[in-house]
Amino acid sequence: EALNSLLMYCHNDRISIEQIPTKYTSGAEKLLVKALLGIEIPSGGFAIDVGVVCQNVATTKAIFDAVVDNKPLVSRIVTVTGSGVESPNNYEVRLGASFEHIVSMSNPNTNQHAIRMGGMMMGVDVETTRAPICKITNCIFVNNLETKPSTQECIRCGQCNQACPVDLLPQQLYWYAKSEDTDKAMDYNLADCIECRCCDYVCPSHIPLAEYFSFAKALHRKTTEDQYRTDIARERFEFREYRLERNKQERTEMMAAKKEELKKKMANDKEQKAKIAAAMARVKKTKQASDDA
Ligand code: SF4
Ligand code: SF4
Repeated sequence: EALNSLLMYCHNDRISIEQIPTKYTSGAEKLLVKALLGIEIPSGGFAIDVGVVCQNVATTKAIFDAVVDNKPLVSRIVTVTGSGVESPNNYEVRLGASFEHIVSMSNPNTNQHAIRMGGMMMGVDVETTRAPICKITNCIFVNNLETKPSTQECIRCGQCNQACPVDLLPQQLYWYAKSEDTDKAMDYNLADCIECRCCDYVCPSHIPLAEYFSFAKALHRKTTEDQYRTDIARERFEFREYRLERNKQERTEMMAAKKEELKKKMANDKEQKAKIAAAMARVKKTKQASDDA
């Protein structure tokens, strides 16, 4: 329906509307660019690195509103859905409105609920419905609360490796993330993990793999930043030491030069004094001679 509407209203030769299969993770930037343009984004890179700007519908609409209609971003479309509501729906909601108010419009049942913001797979759990709608609140899932199965040890079945849409090795990454060996995890392209949770979904041991990967990425970022700050502090310390040593050396050289100059001046003065004394003696002698005559 959406595609037909777009095709009906699009009369611009420079815009091409394409359809790709609706399969989870196909909306991820790297996979979308590959599917639409056949361009492979290198490991650790972004779409912009290969000259592509990748924006979602809400951002594109917000840009249009701001640039064409001079309208600031004060509202957004929010989907309310899940097993805990009777009437799932899309609403245009003012930023700052409470989750509670928006959820109440979809007739929630009386059960206890687990609230999740964003996608069911990539979203985040929200503790309370008193949170406000913000620019990134695209969807609120209201699900009946269920007991989560407990986490077991990894049985090395390899199912996570097969499920990963970006060809990583989640099983291997898990061991490195768990032992906080982030350098090794980065060697295994942890930075390319899109945290889609496909590996979590298939894991028979119910290990929250994506949470480990998200933690390992944050830890690596922090370690790198700390290392950078330490390097900068060390460089500054070394330069200060070098500057102090250089100043000391310069001062010593300057003092030695001054001493030498003073010595020369004193020697000069002594010579000058001797010359004056000799001249005076000569004058005295001449005067004595003329007086005697
Ligand atoms: S799917 Fe789970 S149990 Fe199987 S190898 Fe991956 S992490 Fe281990
Ligand atoms: S969350 Fe798991 S499946 Fe998804 S990209 Fe990362 S490693 Fe691969």
